[in-house]
Amino acid sequence: MSYDVVVLGSINLDVKTLVNKFPDHGHTASAQSIEMLPGGKGSNQAVAVSKLGGEVAFVGAVGQDGAGQQMLQNLEKNGVETEFIKRTSSEGTGTFIVMLDETGENTMVGTLGANDTLTKEDIDYAMDKVEAPVFLLQMETSKDSITAALEKAKQKDMFIILDPAPADGYFEAALQYADCVTPNQQETEKITGIKVDSVEDALKAAEIITEKGAKSVVIKMGAHGNLVYQNGESEFIESHKVQAVDTVGAGDTFAAGLAVHYAKNKNLVEAVKFANKAAAIKVSRMGGQDAIPTVEELDQKI
Ligand code: ADP
Repeated sequence: MSYDVVVLGSINLDVKTLVNKFPDHGHTASAQSIEMLPGGKGSNQAVAVSKLGGEVAFVGAVGQDGAGQQMLQNLEKNGVETEFIKRTSSEGTGTFIVMLDETGENTMVGTLGANDTLTKEDIDYAMDKVEAPVFLLQMETSKDSITAALEKAKQKDMFIILDPAPADGYFEAALQYADCVTPNQQETEKITGIKVDSVEDALKAAEIITEKGAKSVVIKMGAHGNLVYQNGESEFIESHKVQAVDTVGAGDTFAAGLAVHYAKNKNLVEAVKFANKAAAIKVSRMGGQDAIPTVEELDQKI
């Protein structure tokens, strides 16, 4: 079956609670609100690809539980192909409890659950059935799944976009497969040791990342902009000036925009411009997947 983008990634239920102040150890605090939201970088990115106009298939795993059912329904409602998502009985659906206090500080506790059960066999089964010009992944599923998927995507000659989040695992091996890698400033520092405060720093870091095996690099610098580095040349695309109210999900919207635009036009710089605008609209709105813009909304001026 043919798509624009195949996404491998995490699917989580996020239980988001807003408290005035975090409770002391052993104490109870009343929450101002509790929301159950679809999350996980993979799920966010797949929904964003669909909202941004792409046909998308998802490779991932949920548990055979209520949360898994809800997460699948959410993906389906958003036009994401869920046929290649494993329903496992060995673990529950990935779940994270996110506690936000009034300062905006967030504290999280959670489990990867089903996301961590994906095996090489699961991946080979799914990847043999899907065709797409672009393969997009992050690093929140099992190591076996990432390794197997990179190998398959390479064999199938897909353009591999690696969002190296979280960059605390085995990204070194994954970089060898990446046609494009998209670290933010913190991830860039973890990968290269370079603290990115300027475009010059980003360029130095991008050179190092290509020496480590990635073919091209987009260094995301939040409100500042994005450095695109390919074939030894760089271009800096400034971020749009917006009133940022919620930057959660900026990176996922960006990754999806990059993937869907690249799939259709095969031009990395133009894809970054599209992704940059999509992410800017996201940060100007409060919310999760519901705040990701649609492709029609990208036509408007911001
Ligand atoms: P991540 O969300 O992965 O940590 P960033 O914070 O760098 O990554 O955000 C990803 C992209 O979203 C940026 O490269 C930029 O295009 C856009 N973006 C993020 N924050 C802002 C902002 N305050 N204003 C405009 N665009 C933003």
